[in-house]
Amino acid sequence: MKSLSQIMLSLLMVVSLTACSSTGSTTSTDTPSTNESTVTDGEYTATATGFGNGEVSVTLTVENGEITNAVVDTTSQSEGYGADASEGLASQIVEKQSYDLDVVSGATVTRDGVSDATKQAMEQAGFTTESTETVGEDQTANADVLVIGMGASGTMAALKAAESGATVIGVEATASLGGFGNAAQGMFAINSVEQEERYGEDGLTTDEDYWYDHMSSHNNQRGNNKLIRTFVSEAKNTVSYLLNHGVKMFLSPTAQQIAHFDTDVVYHRWNNADPFTHLGAALEENNVDIRYNTTATELIVDENGKVTGAKCTTEDGGTLTVTANSTIVATGSFASNAELMEEVLGKTVYSNANVMAGTPLPGVEMMWNVGAARGDLLTMNHGVNAGATVTVDQLTLNSPILWVNNQGKRFMNEDLLKDTVEFTDAVVAQGGTCYTIVDQTTVDRWTDMSQENTGTWVHYWDRFGIVDENGNPTIYHAPIDIETWNADFETLAASNEGGVFDTIEEVAEFIGCNPADLQETIDNYNNYVQTGVDEEFFKSSESLIYTVSEGPYYVTKGHAGVLGALGGVNTNEKLQVLNDQYEVIEGLYATGNNVSGISFGSYQDVEGVGLGFSLTSGRLAGGYAAEAAGYEAVEDTTELTELGQTTMEEASTATISGH
Ligand SMILES: Cc1cc2nc3c(=O)[nH]c(=O)nc-3n(C[C@H](O)[C@H](O)[C@H](O)COP(=O)(O)OP(=O)(O)OC[C@H]3O[C@@H](n4cnc5c(N)ncnc54)[C@H](O)[C@@H]3O)c2cc1C
Repeated sequence: MKSLSQIMLSLLMVVSLTACSSTGSTTSTDTPSTNESTVTDGEYTATATGFGNGEVSVTLTVENGEITNAVVDTTSQSEGYGADASEGLASQIVEKQSYDLDVVSGATVTRDGVSDATKQAMEQAGFTTESTETVGEDQTANADVLVIGMGASGTMAALKAAESGATVIGVEATASLGGFGNAAQGMFAINSVEQEERYGEDGLTTDEDYWYDHMSSHNNQRGNNKLIRTFVSEAKNTVSYLLNHGVKMFLSPTAQQIAHFDTDVVYHRWNNADPFTHLGAALEENNVDIRYNTTATELIVDENGKVTGAKCTTEDGGTLTVTANSTIVATGSFASNAELMEEVLGKTVYSNANVMAGTPLPGVEMMWNVGAARGDLLTMNHGVNAGATVTVDQLTLNSPILWVNNQGKRFMNEDLLKDTVEFTDAVVAQGGTCYTIVDQTTVDRWTDMSQENTGTWVHYWDRFGIVDENGNPTIYHAPIDIETWNADFETLAASNEGGVFDTIEEVAEFIGCNPADLQETIDNYNNYVQTGVDEEFFKSSESLIYTVSEGPYYVTKGHAGVLGALGGVNTNEKLQVLNDQYEVIEGLYATGNNVSGISFGSYQDVEGVGLGFSLTSGRLAGGYAAEAAGYEAVEDTTELTELGQTTMEEASTATISGH
């Protein structure tokens, strides 16, 4: 398992690569004029607001009336996304001699901030930046079904509607398919063909009733039970649908989260570079008209309150008005909307958390604007990571050692680490940050390379295992070599995200807590380890291994990882959007992360629910939207076509060979 920062980085790379053949640009039509008579050479700096209200700055060097160098500082932005976009944006500024910068996947809001700062700095230098009025054409289009957002759920919705006979237009804000589905690795399903193959027809120990009960109980029955019920029984058909379209799905050898080790494996994985190639080919075969770099901005409603399409902005700044019998909003919720995120997480948590950037314009607002009731809004809290790129956090922030909050006190039974959602929620409840502390004795043990395979657990995941598709441990696990350990702690110290301290007083100073409180926490904890009884939080004796005794002490600051946002509107089980009287808004469907009620309050603690529900809700909504336009939706079952059978076979071979 990679740390969130590593996942973010690889996602950025994947998305950038897929997008590089067709660069998106801002819809701004302003272009600077390099009128040498008004431009004064020199260095000019300006700042602006980027993602999550973080400040970005740009310093331009102007020589002979030209921008010869740009230094972009995006260190306040999400690691792996905006924070890593600085060099690319700086070269664009010099190359284009402009602030009109291309979209950077996963860092659009950062790009907007850098554009703003560049514009200001250019104006300081005397460049003219007025609009040159090169707005693109206004266009119209019509289809049976309009899909807004061609991510995980939108792709499925468009394909299913088109296969059922409907004409379909898909508008997608970026230059590529898949959205955050490109980052996701697996989906939940029960009673799938793959489970049948592994467990035999009667071999599963859990069934739809078990998972329905688990998910509805997780929500304290406050979610959308009918929709959960639908999801739980329909997800298996999504697995077959994907296999039948050539997407290689395979069943993980074991559960991915320790919390589910006792149940059947429900996590159906895919090689996330592959699915959107197959689904993209199928969309093309079915004549789905995809308009990339096109952003829907507003839904259109007729005099009866029916949604009849949407207004969009095209790449060249023109408008595209699409009219359609049914509109499916599949925009992936609101993670990039700082105001909503602050509202949901609280200002402190939002500023402390490691938030995955979302898309610039939350589709949920478009739906609220046409009368959709506001559903439950929440975030996908998933994993705790260091605030700098290191590997030690996979040990220090993934082990049930001593964890403290910013007051130097324990705040959970660290065995919660068995479930990624639960321990992250516990950190969120402390303001989004926490600290782990290990002493030199622990470090000596964790860096003793001779311990490998001795059976002594040095790391939580070594005890329970977290595995890849081949059953091999994927998380970075101890022992770890001392060079990496030391280098990583230097990196953490340099960025004030941790460090090595000689005394508990110094640790307390770093954390910002009362040294006496921290010492008391440590004394109590050491006592629990010695007696094997955690009187405070009842942690299992197996996890009471490491005391915090002699210094130096190694401290890692953890930040709650937030994969994205969930919820926005309520729907019925046909994915039709409801108003505040729980009535259907005709012509309007929502899918994927935009839908409230699968998770309520906290993201489901079952592997693959985000992706599983997105793909399944998209498939279903596409069918219902086609039916609303008078077509008979193609029925999906678990049955495999010839292609599906071959794909399943290939997927299991790919699993063995490690792809
Ligand atoms: C790093 C990471 C790992 C994950 N791993 C997993 C996993 O293993 N299992 C799991 O179950 N879930 C996982 N998830 C969650 C999963 O990816 C999401 O639940 C899923 O992708 C949501 O699908 P969606 O269709 O709602 O949104 P997305 O897939 O995000 O698609 C939304 C699309 O809409 C487009 N868009 C937005 N606004 C507009 C607009 N106004 N006009 C036009 N287009 C617009 C966007 O550009 C995007 O392409 C992960 C998420 C992340 C970030």
